[in-house]
Amino acid sequence: CGIFAYLNYQVPRTRREILETLVKGLQRLEYRGYDSAGIAVDGPDKTATDINSNTICLIKKMGKVKALDEELHKKDTLDLDAELCKHFGIAHTRWATHGEPSAVNSHPHRSDKENEFVVIHNGIITNYKELKAYLITKGYEFESETDTEVIPKLIKYVYDNRESDSVTFSTLVERVIQQLEGAFALVFKSRHFPGDAVSTRRGSPLLIGVRSEAELSTEQIPVQYNSGRLKEGVQEKNSHNRPDCSNDSVGDGSAVEYYFASDASAIIEHTNKVLYLEDNDIAAVTKGKLSIHRLNKKAGDDPVRAIQTLQ
Ligand code: GLU
Repeated sequence: CGIFAYLNYQVPRTRREILETLVKGLQRLEYRGYDSAGIAVDGPDKTATDINSNTICLIKKMGKVKALDEELHKKDTLDLDAELCKHFGIAHTRWATHGEPSAVNSHPHRSDKENEFVVIHNGIITNYKELKAYLITKGYEFESETDTEVIPKLIKYVYDNRESDSVTFSTLVERVIQQLEGAFALVFKSRHFPGDAVSTRRGSPLLIGVRSEAELSTEQIPVQYNSGRLKEGVQEKNSHNRPDCSNDSVGDGSAVEYYFASDASAIIEHTNKVLYLEDNDIAAVTKGKLSIHRLNKKAGDDPVRAIQTLQ
């Protein structure tokens, strides 16, 4: 029901500040109604032996955002004073459509017990039963009753079957949404792409706020279109090459912060520079740079997304 995510790149933030930003974002979305809430941030926690292990810590709770916030403070294994120069955190308030309100059914949902990919979702995946049946035949194990859980399982399936180790996070997400029917706004986080973000939407709103030293008021972000048609089967491989758009994107590797939300009310306190995603847009932040891809080009599609200034 409510999506909020926060990415800092070359802007040092303590884990405590990051968690506060995420919780505050969820509180701004509380008016929409929800039954549970959850957050995913980078570990490691104080008990982890390998400081560079890129672990993801998931915390989910039934009831109010306040209950989630209390749970975060109880989690004394997490080093709240650690300074993170590059971090991506995601947060969600759920309004259950498939599966009863419960901690396990709440978001973020994960690909596996190692939390390789975690996802937050607004909307309904109407073909989840077919996808779930297919993924179960491939050995993927489900833990919730939600429609959403097919998404992290599907991205792991695509990742596990990747043809090249240079596959981008954005390409993985593109292949996932080619298989989805229904309505969605999605934000993905992954251990394989630490500090990077991918978000996409179809039929559910999603916008990105940008806070940067650079002047962004007139920024136009070119949309890269893929060449392929929708793929028929989950197992089909897609071999198109993505153009290098590193020179055509916001952010030049310098300090920048991004806010992803289903509603502008959660972003406006941080920045008034926002970009609204359109259906089938895939927005990726890689090493602090934002770029936008689109599933298929259609007549009348605008080739750019403009950053607007909210009044
Ligand atoms: N259909 C999903 C679920 O039941 C997402 C619901 C929502 O938008 O909060 O978990």
